[in-house]
Amino acid sequence: MTSLEQVRQLSTINQIQIAGLIFGSEQRAKEVKQFLVDCEKIPEVQTNADFYNWSRKKQFLSKDKQGFSFMKMINNQVDDMEQYTGPMIYSATTNHYGVYLAMVVPALKILGTQEQINAWLDDLIQIRKAACYAQTELGHGSDIQSLQTTATYDKQTQEFVINTPTIQAAKFWPGDLGILANWALVFAQLIVDGTNYGVQSFMVQIRDEQTHKPLKGIEVGDIGPKMGYQVKDNGFLKFDNVRIPKFNMLAKYISISPQGKVMKEGDPKISYASMMMMRKLLNTVYPKAAAISLTIALRYSYTRQQFTNDKGVENSVIEYQTQQHKLLPLLANLFAVVLSGNVTSKFVDLNFTEVQKGNFSHMNACHSLLCGTKANYTHFVVNCAEWCRLSCGGHGYAHYSGLPSIYQEHSPNVTLEGENQIMFLQLARCLLKLLKTSQKNPEKIPEQFSLFKRINEILSFKCDQFQTSNILSLLESSVIHLITQTGMKMMQEIQGGLNPKAAWDYKLGTSLWESANYFIEYYKFVCFQNTILQVTHKQTQVVLTNLLNLFGVTILLQNPLALLENDVITQQTMKQIRDEYENLLNLIKPEALSLVESFCLADGGLRTTIGRADGKPYEYTYDWAVNENSLNKIDFSNTVNQLKNCRPKL
Ligand SMILES: Cc1cc2nc3c(=O)[nH]c(=O)nc-3n(C[C@H](O)[C@H](O)[C@H](O)COP(=O)(O)OP(=O)(O)OC[C@H]3O[C@@H](n4cnc5c(N)ncnc54)[C@H](O)[C@@H]3O)c2cc1C
Repeated sequence: MTSLEQVRQLSTINQIQIAGLIFGSEQRAKEVKQFLVDCEKIPEVQTNADFYNWSRKKQFLSKDKQGFSFMKMINNQVDDMEQYTGPMIYSATTNHYGVYLAMVVPALKILGTQEQINAWLDDLIQIRKAACYAQTELGHGSDIQSLQTTATYDKQTQEFVINTPTIQAAKFWPGDLGILANWALVFAQLIVDGTNYGVQSFMVQIRDEQTHKPLKGIEVGDIGPKMGYQVKDNGFLKFDNVRIPKFNMLAKYISISPQGKVMKEGDPKISYASMMMMRKLLNTVYPKAAAISLTIALRYSYTRQQFTNDKGVENSVIEYQTQQHKLLPLLANLFAVVLSGNVTSKFVDLNFTEVQKGNFSHMNACHSLLCGTKANYTHFVVNCAEWCRLSCGGHGYAHYSGLPSIYQEHSPNVTLEGENQIMFLQLARCLLKLLKTSQKNPEKIPEQFSLFKRINEILSFKCDQFQTSNILSLLESSVIHLITQTGMKMMQEIQGGLNPKAAWDYKLGTSLWESANYFIEYYKFVCFQNTILQVTHKQTQVVLTNLLNLFGVTILLQNPLALLENDVITQQTMKQIRDEYENLLNLIKPEALSLVESFCLADGGLRTTIGRADGKPYEYTYDWAVNENSLNKIDFSNTVNQLKNCRPKL
């Protein structure tokens, strides 16, 4: 068996520099690593090996101890999202109160007035007021403007009356609502004197802060078991004309006078601010889960042996080209996601700093980019978990491998905070607008979309002879061809008699999706490429450049149609790209373990028997089956004997 230590010793990269890129700085990487090392010593934060044999109630209750221990470890700095990196990497499942700390707290900070922040922030952070984010209803999720919960202003008492007029209007899905929350940030249609002023957010108390019983007029509970997320109490909530003070509408960008005069200011997109913050979290913290999958799968692939080579020696499965084809492009994509996520995260911070000063000029670009990256990255994490599971054969299917739980816990992310298809369509809308801007006001094109300033040059690019230095131009070319073709298709449909909305909804969906997704792949490549320039260790830069190129050629091979259709490349160029792909698999294979181990993951957080650092899959797998599996501690002899008597006599 190949020892992982031997593979590590042959690696030529500087892991500290790579960890610095992954976590934003070498100092931050050290802190995260230390956090994970500290976790190994704290029993309360370990996920019990037998966790997946437990009832939902027992799983749910076990999370409190883990969550509060994490909070202690991060000194209760729960409103600083960067602090979630360590706990997220280390804990097997979502944590209690995660949704409200990641969404309600930012919503209050961004949408609330100073008086409202003074009134609630401290209580929220201390979890005295545990407020869920109650937006989605049974009948509507993606289409927020069609939510049906109403908040009707009563001038006489200066209160809002919150009501659920139909069954579709019942809030459904908010996390932390079912069992834990005593407050809710409720999204409802604001009605004043019979006029609808659109969806606004309201702080509503739903349970008594002492007894935790639902207040009068409130029906609330947990929606039931799900595919994963068993420890998350996603809930339902109905209001029967519940009265709240006027003060409780978040009022930084909308206010209402006692007489009912409504005043709005700023960009309306600001009401999605906390969703943007959550998308930032999904983009920067959650992709590290793909590093967990790949650490397990790669370690196992170096240690797992099946079949012999021509000398009669057993092969590690990583030697097989198909195994490399399964895992190495995912590793390249992981780096592209994480490094571009860091770039986007800085842009989000810049945007919100500017918004606080009243400058909304980055809002649209920031919103569109977050939509596209959220959709691309969350899909990647789930896809990566599934391919890693497949790459580990039978053992990958066991919970003890650590892989099924990553798939289960991350699959909701493709739906929540904006269903991925809808997210891509939002980005596509921005890309189509940029086509127009490029003709009329190219100077107004935001930096992140600067390739739209060079449309003509990009459209005339041809590549007969492939070299890795052409990858960027080929990606740009694909994006611009796809989006201009979509724009032309739109024009044709409109000229053919369809109105723009019908053309968009019924004729262009797949082209729009494809353009948006390709744009994000291009964006990831650019961010990855620019980040590598910071690396000073020469050989590390060489290896990372190979990884970048592997990412680029994988994207080109997955979707070469736009390039072939527009004669940007020939069949011959296509073959050269394919050859380069195989060459890059060979180059990356010896470094793959060290590359993924730059994420510094600790064994306890991996929760795996087959992918631990010392590379002893069989010892742990057998040990956990024998000693950790609570089913083996139950004496079934009587039960089985009783069952025998029930069997039909054949
Ligand atoms: C685990 C989990 C946790 C959640 N937590 C919360 C929470 O804390 N708070 C909260 O408020 N909500 C929460 N939600 C709800 C979540 O935000 C919504 O389910 C999500 O936004 C998707 O909306 P939807 O269910 O309406 O999907 P739909 O929009 O009904 O999607 C159904 C299908 O229709 C397609 N579709 C819909 N409209 C279009 C269109 N215009 N063009 C093309 N295709 C379209 C979609 O692509 C999808 O394939 C949670 C959901 C889950 C699963």
